[in-house]
Amino acid sequence: MQTVLDKLAILADAAKYDASCASSGAAARNSLATKAIGSTEGMGICHAYAPDGRCISLLKILLTNYCQFDCHYCVNRVSSNVKRARFSVEEVVDLTLGFYKRNYIEGLFLSSGIIQSPDYTMEQVVRVAETLRHTHSFGGYIHLKTIPDADPALLARAGAVADRLSINVELPQEASLARLAPQKSPERIRRAMGTIRLKIEESKEAIKESRKAPRFSTGQSTQMIVGADRADDLAILDTSRNLYGNYKLSRVYYSAFSPIPDASSMLPLIRPPLMREHRLYQADWLMRFYGFSVEEIATGSAGGMLDLAIDPKLAWALQHRDWFPVDVNRASREMLLRVPGFGTKSVKQMLSSRRWRRLRLEDIARLCRGVKSSMPFITAEDWQPGGATDRLDLRKMLSPPCHQGELFA
Ligand code: SF4
Repeated sequence: MQTVLDKLAILADAAKYDASCASSGAAARNSLATKAIGSTEGMGICHAYAPDGRCISLLKILLTNYCQFDCHYCVNRVSSNVKRARFSVEEVVDLTLGFYKRNYIEGLFLSSGIIQSPDYTMEQVVRVAETLRHTHSFGGYIHLKTIPDADPALLARAGAVADRLSINVELPQEASLARLAPQKSPERIRRAMGTIRLKIEESKEAIKESRKAPRFSTGQSTQMIVGADRADDLAILDTSRNLYGNYKLSRVYYSAFSPIPDASSMLPLIRPPLMREHRLYQADWLMRFYGFSVEEIATGSAGGMLDLAIDPKLAWALQHRDWFPVDVNRASREMLLRVPGFGTKSVKQMLSSRRWRRLRLEDIARLCRGVKSSMPFITAEDWQPGGATDRLDLRKMLSPPCHQGELFA
């Protein structure tokens, strides 16, 4: 007979492979003025992120790791020889409230293997969130992993109580999904994402009309496994571009494939370097906030893969040296965003400061932490790079030193 603690050990461990749980973008909900428990923001509750970007302040568990599907990359697949466990709805609710009241967590990330049927499983997951919200007035963050094959009515119920919904596309290319997860259907995944997108948009419109209108999840996200198939970085970024464009996703998470216990022979034996995941996040950021297209990012890559040694913006700049140097006192926002080392915040501050005075190098150094990597690409009131972008050894000069840990990544 398993205790709750036994189950927790198994089901928290089984959930660790899912990266799509960051809590950014949740609606502000504060319980101080009501009798509810918890808030999505406020004193004493911290957002904590692991160095690789994973959110670690949520209780991240599976309802069960039994699953009738046989996705080759998944430790919980039916053919996997792992210890199994299953929580009841009440057990997850009690654990969440208990951890929340002790301030160990700021919310819940709940996923599940598929038992009996997609509808049955989704219903159980939804009941956890509904019980927390309606019976216990839980005001903390809730992220539910949804099952694409579930009835749209269940997705609607999930969105009514969750801050974030996600559906994993799992693999960047449909052919890989057909090979490694034959029971999953790209069409059904897309349909479910489309349904959620519509519900989110409807809810936003309704809230504009009346602030009392029922809320639906503030966003949806997805996860792609990197390195379990042969898709290169540009294929992955192209899929992300389509997902952001077609389904208005809040985030695409990239999870470097890690060899699982009892792995299928269809999977690679070694994991890709963690740096690959990191570079994909940087490129994703360039697409969403810096105005880069996948094609532009591609010019800094080789053989479809991002450069692991330098970040994708620097890689692009080195291939487009004729665009530089950029005058920080005159250039457009779009051009400033292309300067290596300049972030969106620092560019905003530069644009605001230069309305009153001409920017000097020390001003740029105050606004950007990595000004050394920007210096060859800019001119300022008292700075000229002197043809630095023509130097053959510029890449070497700007490449970060190799750390010992990276050799073993
Ligand atoms: S459906 Fe989900 S839990 Fe089940 S085997 Fe596939 S990835 Fe794993």
